[in-house]
Amino acid sequence: MAEHAAQSTHAENTRSNQGGVHAQDDKGQPALDQSAEINASVTATGSGPNAAAYNQAREAHRRDVKRLDDTIAAGLNEHSTSYGEAWPNAAAWLRAGKTKLVALTHTHDAAARAKALGKADKLAMFGFDTAIPADSGYAETDLNDKTNIYCAKPTWGGFRMGGSPSVIAIIQASTYDLNGLKGLIVHEVQHDADHHPGSQMGSYQTEFRAYWIQQAMAHHKATSGSADPNLTTQDGTKLTGFDNRRQQAIFKHLWDCGSYDYVKDLWKDAALRQQLLAQKTPTGTNMVNSPMIDDVFLALNKGQSADAVIAAARKLTVEDLKALGSSQMRGEWEALINKRFSGPTRMRVLGALGMEPGAAGVQWGLIEQIYEQLQSSKANETKLNALIGQLTQADRAILQRAEMKSEWKGLVEKRFEGAARAQMLKALGLDQ
Ligand SMILES: [Zn+2]
Repeated sequence: MAEHAAQSTHAENTRSNQGGVHAQDDKGQPALDQSAEINASVTATGSGPNAAAYNQAREAHRRDVKRLDDTIAAGLNEHSTSYGEAWPNAAAWLRAGKTKLVALTHTHDAAARAKALGKADKLAMFGFDTAIPADSGYAETDLNDKTNIYCAKPTWGGFRMGGSPSVIAIIQASTYDLNGLKGLIVHEVQHDADHHPGSQMGSYQTEFRAYWIQQAMAHHKATSGSADPNLTTQDGTKLTGFDNRRQQAIFKHLWDCGSYDYVKDLWKDAALRQQLLAQKTPTGTNMVNSPMIDDVFLALNKGQSADAVIAAARKLTVEDLKALGSSQMRGEWEALINKRFSGPTRMRVLGALGMEPGAAGVQWGLIEQIYEQLQSSKANETKLNALIGQLTQADRAILQRAEMKSEWKGLVEKRFEGAARAQMLKALGLDQ
């Protein structure tokens, strides 16, 4: 049984608040695959006094597992839902095993079992220890056996729990309408994809992003100035200071539903409240749930070389590159890259991420060699001139960029004096 207490959990109150839950028509019985049974301590068929009810719960679970598995398999190629690339990417994320995905289903004695486990306000669900598509069960007659059990509030639709790997749980997947289920998965994967800090502000920001891309409040305007100055929470707190109605609606939902009470602490703190209000629309490093963008992020954050970062960046799709250049993501990536790289290496990495339009066709290896020579206390004029002679027009255009020009000029002036300095500045085109 996994240890949960110390890990951050983001649970979604989707059942009571978003109206996205409809009874599901089951078209026939799902195929039962007994070979998928991995929980050997649990028999597939009930034998206790409530065997029929237990068997029903097991069947419901098989439907939940199959629903999730089928939805994700189809999702890999679904590029035109309202979630954009965030949906096929979420499916690819889960297929790549970046997160463990589990299906939770109410036990036949959900309320009594939760009570027996000391969680009277929750319901007992099973499937928590078993990644889909494997089937699993639970101790039929022992209400105190926690194997494969998780107790969640009745209103939760799903949650994400940090760890290695992290876990995404979707509750009663078969009871969702298909579009609602996709949105919930998009939401939960975002909690993983954004690598948010564990602070209260980090928790708020990840919910803000996740609800935004889940399109949960998409019927509310996101245009600046559209916030309702008279909107209050259910407990009468006036939600003033917001920019747009969608930003405000997400905050109100977090406040009212009871699963995100830290937003009340943030609101009480004047400085944090200002910070929260200033985030008018979400920004993040991976607002599209892309596993390829995640690989570049991990290479950057694990301190890997520019070459390794660029190798990961070569796997980015056109859609990934488009997302990286968007107003939601570009600033965050520039900040990440600036922390790691400078000079031409920085520009080369930006180029690989499509953020430096002049970078294609540039001889970055050559430029970096010249840069290293200039930085060296033993800058060699003869060697430099030989290297500079190989620069093409595209290379020289890069040196004319403001962020390159002033730094390179400074390096030349530090290393050379008099006629040598003038000659070197001229050779590099830095003399104008
Ligand atoms: Zn969430």
